[in-house]
Amino acid sequence: MLHIDNIEKYLRDHEISPSYQRKRIFEYLYNSKKHPSVNDIYSFLIDDIPTLSKTTIYNTLNLFIEKNIVDSIIIDGNELKYQICDSKKHGHFKCKSCNTLYDIQIDFDNLNIDSLKGFDIHEQSFYFVGICEKCKNNNKV
Ligand SMILES: [Zn+2]
Ligand SMILES: [Zn+2]
Repeated sequence: MLHIDNIEKYLRDHEISPSYQRKRIFEYLYNSKKHPSVNDIYSFLIDDIPTLSKTTIYNTLNLFIEKNIVDSIIIDGNELKYQICDSKKHGHFKCKSCNTLYDIQIDFDNLNIDSLKGFDIHEQSFYFVGICEKCKNNNKV
């Protein structure tokens, strides 16, 4: 798990000038164990930063993505979700019952997919949809 002591320094190290809004947006992503959307970030920060707009959040996230410190994930083809780039790549599982997005550990280095041999891969993602163990167990009652 990525550990950051000083967000301001971390942003500077990635050539991002650390404005207050950028720091707060990054901090929220960093502390959030979920995968927030622009709307989630907005509802969380708007009380503290009344001047914040969704456009600012969107532009800030795009800057973070450009500097490779944040990833976006498309779930269900509609709302984009965001997460901090971790040293560990992972896949995702979405539960249709509780809507939780789980991080799934996958050994990307040892996938050995024969049909991809000789291809240059620029992006890879694993996305599973179903019912999580917790919801399955709850339904049994
Ligand atoms: Zn569930
Ligand atoms: Zn994730």
